Amino acid sequence: MTNSNKGKVVLVGAGPGDIGLLTLNGKHWLQKADVVLYDHLVNPDMIRFTQKSAEIIYVGKKEGLASMEQEHINHLLISKTSEGKIVVRLKGGDPFVFGRGGEEIQAVQAAGISFIIVPGVTSVTGVAAYAGIPLTHRDYSSTFSVITGSNEKKQGDIHIDWEKIAGRSGTLVFLMGARKLSLIVEKLMSFGKSPKTPIAVVQWGTTARQKTWVGTLDTIVEISAKDKILPPALTIIGEVVNLKPVLEWYEHLPLFGKTVVVTRKGDQAESMIDQLRELGAEPFFFPVIETIAPDDWSPLDNALSNLSQYQGLIFTSVNGVRFFAERLKTIDQDIRELKGLRVFTIGPKTAEAVRDLGIHVDVVPENFVAESLIASIGKENIKGKRFLLPRATVAREILPEQLREMGAILDVAPTYQTVLPDPQVTELSMRLEAGNIDVITFTSSSTVKNFLALTGDKLLPAIRKVKIACIGPVTANTAREAGLNVEILPEQYTVSSLLDAIEAFFQSDS
Ligand code: SAH
Repeated sequence: MTNSNKGKVVLVGAGPGDIGLLTLNGKHWLQKADVVLYDHLVNPDMIRFTQKSAEIIYVGKKEGLASMEQEHINHLLISKTSEGKIVVRLKGGDPFVFGRGGEEIQAVQAAGISFIIVPGVTSVTGVAAYAGIPLTHRDYSSTFSVITGSNEKKQGDIHIDWEKIAGRSGTLVFLMGARKLSLIVEKLMSFGKSPKTPIAVVQWGTTARQKTWVGTLDTIVEISAKDKILPPALTIIGEVVNLKPVLEWYEHLPLFGKTVVVTRKGDQAESMIDQLRELGAEPFFFPVIETIAPDDWSPLDNALSNLSQYQGLIFTSVNGVRFFAERLKTIDQDIRELKGLRVFTIGPKTAEAVRDLGIHVDVVPENFVAESLIASIGKENIKGKRFLLPRATVAREILPEQLREMGAILDVAPTYQTVLPDPQVTELSMRLEAGNIDVITFTSSSTVKNFLALTGDKLLPAIRKVKIACIGPVTANTAREAGLNVEILPEQYTVSSLLDAIEAFFQSDS
């Protein structure tokens, strides 16, 4: 329990979108938070850094509705901390750049509550960097101004000193001006800025939805006319925009613009997410499987206390290895007792997990499916030999069945079980229906089944429009049986190959 005098508000800048732009401090406080209040422009994927028990409150805009009243937000901040909690207030970009962070902290301070402020990467610099536009450059600009595009006094106008702003020589950056582009360029030109001044508008910068329009003050409205520029968008005006063709990089990454759903479970997802981000994709983490201990350890415990009766040990998954090793530790059994057993694994990752324990792997078949392992083991004389198979509570029966047919004695010991977690279905369905999901990845049959169970029939038509990538043929069959069209299937059944296959698919597609 949190001590009651420990209650505090932590104002955290979440950065402009890419989850990688959250600071280490920001992540630290998310991990410690009891309550998180987050805004519309925050990448909701960050919520996965919080503890399971944390209370998550969305205070941004709901479709068509205004954001929660500022007073109500202030009230929440204060009431939640008075229960002794750590309340993280997560805001897009940097909280002190047009973020009302100042106002919220004033209210918190006036209520006598302690607070911490964690700056964030503001969209001003973050989005500019992802668009390949440096805000200053020794040859073109030695200042930049950050200006609001929504300071309305009169409807439709922006209440700022246009004459002074148009007279400035450096780079101008307008925030919140997505719907005011024509007003901004007209005002600047009428107060003397050259119509030939370069301008770029960047929408949803640092995310898969990043889109940029480039022109000059007198052409940009026409250039962007066929697309409707919607918030969030940032407008950069000045000579530095001309550097974009040389300095742009994000838009050239192989998977730029693709949102890829990662369904594999929590602690194995991290490396897949990192690899996707390196390729320029926006990962959408939607875990559909959680692994926990089996209900009953006795079959495994019995086997472990009689290890000498076995000639072979078969692992079919990394989870199997992990839970097996943990159990050995828990019951204080020496790993050296595994000496003399031949160890078989299905794929290279499983083999790696076994080797990490310091155990030698005798056989890894060429293809990473049960059938290959059966073929490999079948080459040995297994008649009458006893094997231990620590694995999930529910799994394919082909391996034990066929080995038994070949004369082996097989003890199957449940070592872990998978359960349905509670991922963010609403956010996924919004993105699916808006056509903002490009690929869904499945790394096992149970990810397919659980995903479809969680999303339900209503989303099936939207899911059918998305590219489906499966790690191997068994998973692909499950997906096909469920009516999905599997278009991406790697040659090797590993996550890296799966990512290679996704990259190759889109490269040949473009
Ligand atoms: N505190 C935020 C700004 C809040 S005002 C920050 O430091 O970035 C909201 C405005 O920020 C939007 O209207 C838009 O102009 C800009 N913005 C925020 N995220 C953006 C993004 N990903 N791409 C483009 N503009 C963005």
